[in-house]
Amino acid sequence: MSVWNPWHGCKKISPGCANCYVYRRDEGIGKDASVVSMTGDFSLPLKKDRCGGYKLRPDDGEVFTCMTSDFFLDIADEWRGRCWDMIRERDDLHFHIITKRIERFEKCLPDDWGDGWDNVTVCSTCEDQQRADERLPVLLSLPIKHRQMICEPMLEEINIEKYLSSGLIEHVTCGGESGNNARPCDFNWVKELRRQCIRTAVPFTFKQTGAVFIKDGRVYHIPRRLQMAQAKKSAYSYYPNTGCADAIKYTLPETAALFERLERSAFRSRFHLSQKDKDYIAQKGLDTIRAHAMDFISKRLSAENPANDGKQTPMKGHPIFTAQHACACCCRSCLEKWHNIPSGKILNEAEQSYIADILLIWIKKELSL
Ligand code: SF4
Ligand SMILES: [Zn+2]
Repeated sequence: MSVWNPWHGCKKISPGCANCYVYRRDEGIGKDASVVSMTGDFSLPLKKDRCGGYKLRPDDGEVFTCMTSDFFLDIADEWRGRCWDMIRERDDLHFHIITKRIERFEKCLPDDWGDGWDNVTVCSTCEDQQRADERLPVLLSLPIKHRQMICEPMLEEINIEKYLSSGLIEHVTCGGESGNNARPCDFNWVKELRRQCIRTAVPFTFKQTGAVFIKDGRVYHIPRRLQMAQAKKSAYSYYPNTGCADAIKYTLPETAALFERLERSAFRSRFHLSQKDKDYIAQKGLDTIRAHAMDFISKRLSAENPANDGKQTPMKGHPIFTAQHACACCCRSCLEKWHNIPSGKILNEAEQSYIADILLIWIKKELSL
């Protein structure tokens, strides 16, 4: 990865900017980050080294562009044309532009932009639901060859599944906020966004925890040097069909505590076996019912990204379906939220068997009522 900062300084425009790292860093050296000026690196893509080769080489990876400002800042309108010229000339490099100003994109394009350039990825930052709903429809509507989305700092749970299902967003990244005044990032928000990416087969990177991280309701203060390492250690990034979720460490809930929680849930405790279900179980026997459970679990729940996930379990029609809703084993979201079994993981035999055991415990309880 290389960095090209043609100008420096920026204007805050949305909640994600409140603790902007450019401002924080500049304050530390007595500089005013709201003053925007061209840098000495303005022409970096064309700069040569002593041997006459370009300083920026394709082997160094993507060129992250304008990381101490915003490429589409209005103050930079008069400079941007020359940047496009350099991006056009260096078609051997891939430029990665992250912006909070996607609404200005169309007015800022060169005449020969056409359907977009292959060597440019445009990444829209959406720190909350409102910004996602404002910016992602614009990102999707524009002529861009490579689109990404970044949710950093993640300020709340967001739902972007309808935008992801367009198939036009190539990658989602999320992370918490750093610095002394960092706002908290809840691991549940990260997991929810990840599940949306799994269902739509979009690669997802959990980049960093941020300084204030909430996990299972507990608040953790994470030092800067560990924020990326902790996110990596969690293994909660997701790359489709790579088996990466196998690296996630988790612990199954203790059975008695799980059933206590299920009984406390107004939704889960509403489910009961009907007389027809009970007659069916009496006719088939519990061994056969367990075999049916294993079959449903294997076919409807066990894939990395099961078909129709979230809607794959009918509300009735078989005692196992009812048990699945009562025990929160109906879909991969519920399995993750209630049983800690990570989404995006192909369920192994032990996991499938665990689920069947839970369903049978519930059924036996129902039969004894
Ligand atoms: S747009 Fe980015 S660089 Fe500009 S103030 Fe906001 S966070 Fe900082
Ligand atoms: Zn469910």
